[in-house]
Amino acid sequence: MNAINTIGVLTSGGDAPGMNAAIRAVVRASIFHDKKCKAIYRGYQGLIDNDIVSTTPRSVNNIINKGGTMLKSARCLEFRTKEGRKKAYENINKNNIDALVVIGGDGSFTGAMIFQKEFGVPVIGIPGTIDNDIFGTSHTIGYDTALNTVTEVIDKIRDTAISHNRLFFVEVMGRDAGHIALNAGIGSGAEEILIPEEDMGIERMLDSLKRSEKSGKSSSIVVVAEGDKTGKNVFELAAYVEKNMPHYEVRVSVLGHMQRGGAPSCFDRVLASRMGVFAVESLLDGKSNIMVGIDNDTMILTDLDKAIKGKSNINKNLIRVSDILTI
Ligand code: ADP
Repeated sequence: MNAINTIGVLTSGGDAPGMNAAIRAVVRASIFHDKKCKAIYRGYQGLIDNDIVSTTPRSVNNIINKGGTMLKSARCLEFRTKEGRKKAYENINKNNIDALVVIGGDGSFTGAMIFQKEFGVPVIGIPGTIDNDIFGTSHTIGYDTALNTVTEVIDKIRDTAISHNRLFFVEVMGRDAGHIALNAGIGSGAEEILIPEEDMGIERMLDSLKRSEKSGKSSSIVVVAEGDKTGKNVFELAAYVEKNMPHYEVRVSVLGHMQRGGAPSCFDRVLASRMGVFAVESLLDGKSNIMVGIDNDTMILTDLDKAIKGKSNINKNLIRVSDILTI
């Protein structure tokens, strides 16, 4: 591997709060170690279009507290082709970039891995996604903020649910992973939580709601992950309960993209800062084709292919805790 003098940084795929803190950390850690850092706009699209700028420590002033990503993100079809990646490589050379830090999810890491194999450019991934669905880290950047956002919103929904004796179905993000639903569900005291990993069964949910009603609850909240295993979407679930418990007023709230927005939590800012510094130092240590992560408050590295193929399991004990606490 050639010596690294200039590190490129980009954000790719779905944005997540805390990505800016990670960009800031990569820029400043590079310069701290007497290297240059170039910022690439719009993910892989910017690499192909040569939308690349030099940075100084001041380029990343006042972004640690901002949601989204100042570098913008993009889904880039062209990078999926060999010709597109060749253009990207030409611009890497034009800008004298010796290594790449990719902040994104598993799609972005797949692109990075292919690029590294084809052209030998060292790459390192920083996991940024609110879904927390990446193997090799207990937390991804943005996840904690999303949990806080969702919990806060469900608290508000609870106010109106109580006032009207309503049953609310709240759909949260998570096509393949129930991390947000499970944790925000427990955090907001939800009656039932439906996730992609476990088939809780629609009848079980109905029984639980009936039991709760008998025990004196007059309003309830059911948190449903987008990809929940019952195979029914949130509107179908609501219709089913309405049919079987006709005296209940049922409402649906789909939280959608607001879950990705907002200022990052302190946890995400610190996590992103640590990951950014660790990513740069790992690259300078000669590491490549890996992802930085955190486990038990310790920074760790995982091979990119393992991070992509592996599954980040939910903590099944949380299901039990939720069951116990919703008697
Ligand atoms: P995320 O990183 O959040 O999972 P995507 O799956 O949309 O988001 O991936 C982000 C970008 O990574 C894609 O738009 C594409 O440019 C690149 N990418 C994803 N998969 C591949 C692939 N198999 N080959 C090359 N590039 C890819």
